Amino acid sequence: MAETNIFQELIAHCKEYGYIFQSSEVYDGLAAVYDYGQNGAQLKKNIRDYWWKSMTQLNENIVGIDAAIFMHPTVWKASGHVDNFSDPMIDNKDSNKRYRVDHLIEAFAEGLAEKDGTNPNGEALLANMDALLAKDDFAGLKALIENNKMTCAVSKTSNWTDVRQFNLMFSTEFGAVADKEGDNIVYLRPETAQGIFVNFLNVQKTGRMKIPFGIAQTGKAFRNEIVARQFIFRMRDFEQMEMQFFVRPGTQKQWYEHWRDERKKWHESIGIPAEKLRFHDHAKLAHYADAALDIEFEFPFGWKELEGIHSRTDFDLSQHALYSKKKIQYFDNDLNEEGKPYGNYTPFVVETSVGLDRLFLTIMSLAYKEEKWTKEDGTEDSRVVLKIPAKIAPTKLAILPLLKKDGLPEIAKELMNECKGDFMCFYEEKDAIGKRYRRMDAVGTPFCVTIDHQTKEDDTVTIRYRDDMRQERIAISDVRKLVLEKIS
Ligand code: ATP
Repeated sequence: MAETNIFQELIAHCKEYGYIFQSSEVYDGLAAVYDYGQNGAQLKKNIRDYWWKSMTQLNENIVGIDAAIFMHPTVWKASGHVDNFSDPMIDNKDSNKRYRVDHLIEAFAEGLAEKDGTNPNGEALLANMDALLAKDDFAGLKALIENNKMTCAVSKTSNWTDVRQFNLMFSTEFGAVADKEGDNIVYLRPETAQGIFVNFLNVQKTGRMKIPFGIAQTGKAFRNEIVARQFIFRMRDFEQMEMQFFVRPGTQKQWYEHWRDERKKWHESIGIPAEKLRFHDHAKLAHYADAALDIEFEFPFGWKELEGIHSRTDFDLSQHALYSKKKIQYFDNDLNEEGKPYGNYTPFVVETSVGLDRLFLTIMSLAYKEEKWTKEDGTEDSRVVLKIPAKIAPTKLAILPLLKKDGLPEIAKELMNECKGDFMCFYEEKDAIGKRYRRMDAVGTPFCVTIDHQTKEDDTVTIRYRDDMRQERIAISDVRKLVLEKIS
């Protein structure tokens, strides 16, 4: 089946099995905003916990915080977001549809694919676009769109406005009364990082942190994305998991390379195959960066950014020092090559920033499988299965009494009570066992245990493994230990 069809199937599956619903669906939804259902919320939490643990528990020099979504409006002036957090856009005058310039050109370039699958014209076009974006050459971008006769998907015309910048931050008013001067305007944070920068001194002092050290945070971020598409890949309300690593000036390149490699390894540890990940260096560096790359994943719709690794220099801390008129520095009493303390300086920062929702989509697109096979009697069989790695699967164990009678439910409930303090279990006694197994496959539960009449005789149960459908008989007293081993 074509990749795009598979993607549509995955979206439908996410809804059918309680993973993701469109926000406010009863009112026909809100564009690019999604709600996580009972299984989605648990999977998201498991991914978030896995990240949090690997950052804050496995690294002795990284601590976690939880800053508020609202911040003082000057934060966003200092960070450059008020002036710079914008994307070049172009409107089609006939349909009034607005496009992000890079998306319009990328979609056009993809369409240039030649018969043998290579796309030299498309690649040349993209290289041209990158060069123009790097120079903020808006007239050049418009000319590129017009000269290639790119058309609007709605009006089919190439009647374009000039290319303009649009700020992506959402704003709202603070307090009850609207202020004519606009002094009470606050922004919904477009990234979690600034909450870390403005707390740098609080954390460093109260935690007696010594450089190099990191501050990690997970939380909501909001961007008024003009072209929001591809399901939860690009949302207006999403979650980030960011870590800012504060280092001695001059050592940032070494730490940038360190975190680039560590983060790729981490993605592999959560079950993403190495060949589905690659680095993409930024052609145009953001105003704060001296090096930046994306860790890209091969989504069903192509290679796209999953995580950003940015060497942010001392830009953010220096800007907050400037705007707040406070000294934001670190005193380093380690000795340099001349045997003197390094003294006071503004630390440099290497950032790792991954979208939780994008990671969720990554895991789901790898997990979703439609399998078909021929049985021993020659008949065809099939199933839809979510092969989510056991350590992050929402439910770990399904406990299934074969029948609703003969004392089997009582034994099953006892096992449930033994296990549910350690991991998520699900109990089900309705329907034939084969049907229940298929439902657990579709929802991604890695282990099913069936309690039958033999259990009453010899205290054994059948354990069934989701990925290869293998079944074996084990002692009921070993179930909890076995599942704990598999998910640790
Ligand atoms: P893109 O180029 O895709 O717009 P970006 O470069 O603006 O992303 P960053 O500012 O580096 O993204 O944000 C860090 C991470 O946050 C991204 O790698 C991505 O995983 C996630 N992210 C950013 N914007 C969104 C969004 N609108 N929806 C979901 N996740 C997002």
